[in-house]
Amino acid sequence: MLADTCPTCGRALDAHDRHVRFTLPDPVLDLPEREHTPDTWLSHGTPRESVMMQVPGAGSFVRILVPVQLDGGYRVTFGAWLGIHPAQLQPTFAVWWEPEYVDLRLEGFLANKIAPWGLLGAPVIATVRNPDETPYLTASPDPGLSAVLTEPWPHDEILPHLPD
Ligand SMILES: [Zn+2]
Repeated sequence: MLADTCPTCGRALDAHDRHVRFTLPDPVLDLPEREHTPDTWLSHGTPRESVMMQVPGAGSFVRILVPVQLDGGYRVTFGAWLGIHPAQLQPTFAVWWEPEYVDLRLEGFLANKIAPWGLLGAPVIATVRNPDETPYLTASPDPGLSAVLTEPWPHDEILPHLPD
């Protein structure tokens, strides 16, 4: 229906506010046995449900939200993985379901390639905005990633790269 079509890019408007959830961190995708690597720990039954994981040979990871503003007030949110120092995993797990969760601050690296930018391995800082959500990627010393977080993006640069 024409009324539901974006005047800027011609796509359906309901294709603009999207949430894209990565199943695995890229370093885990690169392992031959992925999440079935022996001694893997997942916070939940499957990688897709999990908010934390530790995989021998790949590292320790926490889910974060990466919000990207689009022109016209739309927003695409990526549910990505943050790679953290293994020593940070236990303290993170200890506060995850506690009131202190709101003060959680994590430093690490982006553990997924996000199209069209890439940015795998970019250093990031994640903090909690909402106690009912995973932490948000709130800052990065990487200028490219900082621009992703702070600038509105044209629909045609972002939406074609999202999975259906
Ligand atoms: Zn559009």
